[in-house]
Amino acid sequence: MELITGRPIAPGVAAGPIHILRQDTPRPDSGSCPTTPQRELDRFHLACRQAAEELAGMESAAQTQAGQTGTDLLHIHAMLLEDPDFLETSEELIRNGATAQEGVMEAGQRFADAFSAMDDPYLQARAADITGLAQHVSDRITGRRDAPLPAVPVLLAAESLSPAQLLGWGRERLLGLVLTHCAPSSHTAILARAMELPTVQVSALEKHWQGRQAVLDGTAGQLRLDPDAALLSQVQTFEDNTQEARQPSQFPAVTSDGRKVALLANIGHPEEAGRALARGAEGIGLFRSEFLFLDRDCCPTEEEQFLLYRQVVQAMEGRRVVIRTLDAGADKPLPYLDLPREENPALGRRGIRLSLTRPGLFRPQLRAILRAAAFGPVSLMFPMVSALDEVIRGKALLEECRRELEAEGVPMGPVEVGIMIETPAAALIAGELAREVSFFSIGTNDLTQYALAADRQEAAAYDPHHPAVLTLIGMAVEAAHRHGCRVALCGELGADLEMTEQLLRLGVDELSASPSALPGLRRHIRELDLR
Ligand code: PEP
Ligand code: MG
Repeated sequence: MELITGRPIAPGVAAGPIHILRQDTPRPDSGSCPTTPQRELDRFHLACRQAAEELAGMESAAQTQAGQTGTDLLHIHAMLLEDPDFLETSEELIRNGATAQEGVMEAGQRFADAFSAMDDPYLQARAADITGLAQHVSDRITGRRDAPLPAVPVLLAAESLSPAQLLGWGRERLLGLVLTHCAPSSHTAILARAMELPTVQVSALEKHWQGRQAVLDGTAGQLRLDPDAALLSQVQTFEDNTQEARQPSQFPAVTSDGRKVALLANIGHPEEAGRALARGAEGIGLFRSEFLFLDRDCCPTEEEQFLLYRQVVQAMEGRRVVIRTLDAGADKPLPYLDLPREENPALGRRGIRLSLTRPGLFRPQLRAILRAAAFGPVSLMFPMVSALDEVIRGKALLEECRRELEAEGVPMGPVEVGIMIETPAAALIAGELAREVSFFSIGTNDLTQYALAADRQEAAAYDPHHPAVLTLIGMAVEAAHRHGCRVALCGELGADLEMTEQLLRLGVDELSASPSALPGLRRHIRELDLR
């Protein structure tokens, strides 16, 4: 067995033949006839349009294979295609004598160089996205195409791949990916994770790998060529376990000493409910309602909201759905609300604070949630709570809405009320808060940032494993249980297998994570012994 050590990009294990991607030789860039800048500009614009149409045609494949993440990535790529700076730079190069293909590749390279030179690792990763986009347009100009993949699924090896290529082939043709260029936060990496496609980055591809059997371990970042029978049988067991973990009802998340842990899903869009169910979610633990309010010119009406909430409730067929009321403000501004500018929006009017000052925004949402509850079990939770008064006022407004609907004879159902624990203040006064609500949901993403005074995008100081964060979680759980209040955890820490045991020992009752994380979490919980 030959071992190649690389970098883990997307977790999981896969075994099968390696196939090195071939691309057919591009035809000469401009053909043999003399060209002019105008002709090249026309070819450039036509290629941009073709690339945009291709992306638009992949929407439903993106949704089924990678949920909201897939469609979001396609939208970002489509927006990049319309970016005025990118278009103008390409056009200028072409006007100055470059061919259409040279112009777009040079413009892509300039933008990629600018991103690579930035300090922020997130922005650095955008370099690969822009190069991929330029390549996509260039391929439309030259007619370069990927050679077809073999009929059987393969471990696909390539220098780099774009999200459009991945979606074009589809998950069922691919077992895993071996790439030489793929930053962990690039769009291709994000998509591979959303498609649950094990991926490793290696320093170089070798021709002699073509057709050889291999085992790819995307969690460890390794590729083993010519695996022996023992390793292949381990992979088979792993795959069986993964299948097992995907069977929702037969294999509940119970530790080996008998503690049942409810596993729920975080979703940001109604269409993700199906993926949550397919991964065995026992309900929706966090439905981020922001998507309904963002990217539009005015607030969604009560009716619009009701229809979408009902869609999720019905899709979950009697399982609980926790809808989080609007968490706008800070990094999710709503321009149509015309809010006064704040020096420090992360510490300003956001979440429940904002909703309480805008009853015209808040009431339709509360009414829509109450109405959706006529169709199945619904809970709501208030985000960014930092004071008891906010919970009391939020509940009072909910009660007013309930009475209104009753008086109007509009059907509705019971709604359980909970809050998110996302500020150190909420954890510190958890005893008072627990008297008012039925459950807590710990939002470790914000709790970490506010406890450590570290921006959640800042990798260096932001550490959800920090003892301060764990102490706050422990305090909140202890106070909640004293008052008979359940505790869920819906921040990213909930999907961190290194921390599952500790969270359960602290007393967390439920975990809510992205649908793709649920099978792994279930399998891990079933292996734990908390005695
Ligand atoms: C959190 O803060 O942990 C959370 C789940 O909320 P969001 O990530 O939407 O801020
Ligand atoms: Mg939050």
